[in-house]
Amino acid sequence: MRRVYLDHSATTPVDPEVAQLMMTYYTEKYGNPSSVHSFGQEAKEGLEIAREQVAALIGAQENEITFTSGGTEADNLAVLGTADAQRKNGKHIITSAIEHHAVLETCEYLEKSGFELTVIPVDEEGLVDPEAVAHAIRPDTILISIMHANNEVGTIQPIAEIGKIAKEKGVTFHVDAVQSLGKIPIDVKAMNVDLLTMSSHKIYGPKGVGALYIRKGVKLSPRVYGGGQEKKRRSGTENLPGIVGFGKACELAGKRMEEEEKQLKVLRDRLMDGILEKIDYVKVNGPRGDKRLPNNVNVSVQYVEGESLLLSLDMMGIAASSGSACTSGSLDPSHVLLAMGLKHEIAHGSLRFSLGRQNTEEDIDYVLEQLPKIVERLRMMSPLYDQILHNTAKAQ
Ligand SMILES: *Cc1c(COP(=O)(O)O)cnc(C)c1O
Repeated sequence: MRRVYLDHSATTPVDPEVAQLMMTYYTEKYGNPSSVHSFGQEAKEGLEIAREQVAALIGAQENEITFTSGGTEADNLAVLGTADAQRKNGKHIITSAIEHHAVLETCEYLEKSGFELTVIPVDEEGLVDPEAVAHAIRPDTILISIMHANNEVGTIQPIAEIGKIAKEKGVTFHVDAVQSLGKIPIDVKAMNVDLLTMSSHKIYGPKGVGALYIRKGVKLSPRVYGGGQEKKRRSGTENLPGIVGFGKACELAGKRMEEEEKQLKVLRDRLMDGILEKIDYVKVNGPRGDKRLPNNVNVSVQYVEGESLLLSLDMMGIAASSGSACTSGSLDPSHVLLAMGLKHEIAHGSLRFSLGRQNTEEDIDYVLEQLPKIVERLRMMSPLYDQILHNTAKAQ
């Protein structure tokens, strides 16, 4: 049976070139980068090359990159580290309703411990209005955290506009760019971003490694104390094979971005248009065109459950996700779709396809062949759909 992986927003395969390079740091260049001997220096060299590669992808300087154990830790470091370092300036934090849980839950934790939180709503496409952010800023606002691209619906936020507002008001601006990194251009200077979260395993690098860009001069406390690695911002012996792999993945992503962006958009639109054409009672969630990530398709299929769709797709070798991967398993509909104004029952029937480097037109056509049959079969078992059919039949 054909196997089609369309869950690249959950994770990606490690690029073979990345894996090969990593292997040498497990078995040959295994020194501790803090050691003075040649083994240590060899490792340190690898660490610093990776730092340059990560910095280059977002227009930063090497010394502004702090490696972490992934996107989640980078988000936590950004939010908690700012709250801790700047608490004497205020206790107000601004974020949006569609952030990743690594940001939202961290902000909610801070709220419980005495900080005040303003959660900016989004419109029906999942967009944050920069004006709404401007209005929410108070004299005691210390942090604005708004993601670059949403992991569920692919909406790309007007980060440069928000960055300009944050800069004018002197408020630290954090951006979770895990989903946009390597897919669309990022320039932290042009966008006026102070802190930017990245993750390796979403861009064909290994899992368990990521980074936080910390603009020079931004006040941030560490979350992990110890040996003082990463300029005391994140102690602990560096995950060198992971970091080196992440650096390589950034280099490759930078080289391939332009071509891949075009290629993915073609496949994305082929899938989205095909679904709309072949299946009735379907709604696209999120914007169309350039405000959407080039690899994201999110649709709500009425009168069926997203989980049932997923299982049926999986039986045909197709991997997608419903809601978000982190919360599937729970029955709560996605907070992102609800924030966009979707009704519970519509949100429940939503599917996310996230495309990647290896996907082909044949993959998309296979989905377009299988999905309508699956939807048809599941709807036949749905009492709601039965009613719709009857009512239409009577009306005719
Ligand atoms: C995956 C993801 C994260 C978490 O990154 P990990 O490296 O898996 O911890 C954070 N934010 C967004 C938007 C993500 O998609």
